[in-house]
Amino acid sequence: MDNCLFCKIVRGEIPSTKVYENDKVYAFRDINPQAPTHVLVVPKQHVPSIDGINEMTDSDLAACLRAVREIAAQENLAGGYRVISNCGPDACQSVPHLHFHILGGRKMADQMA
Ligand code: AMP
Ligand code: ZN
Repeated sequence: MDNCLFCKIVRGEIPSTKVYENDKVYAFRDINPQAPTHVLVVPKQHVPSIDGINEMTDSDLAACLRAVREIAAQENLAGGYRVISNCGPDACQSVPHLHFHILGGRKMADQMA
């Protein structure tokens, strides 16, 4: 996707602070962190949201969650962390490229929203 922000980040056309990368996944620090650790995990394949995951192979989709686990260990989030994927307008998704937020390093609110 030529004009997608996260595709541009994956391609290195927009700078980011990389925390993890493999052949299927790229992860970088959120520009507006909501917790001491706030990382975004994105598939390199452009998929708009969870609604679009039938366009992905199971292997590519699983790679995202495996990356979440790797990054949580790398970031020393032994006390726990929250994983969020906003999907669509009611969830206030602002970037239409599938991504998983990893939030950690502080106690989260006990309500989801
Ligand atoms: P969402 O609202 O779930 O779509 O999340 C999009 C996230 O992308 C927000 O938390 C933004 O702060 C973050 N974001 C937007 N632009 C950038 C950027 N250039 N680099 C890193 N994070 C970004
Ligand atoms: Zn994209």
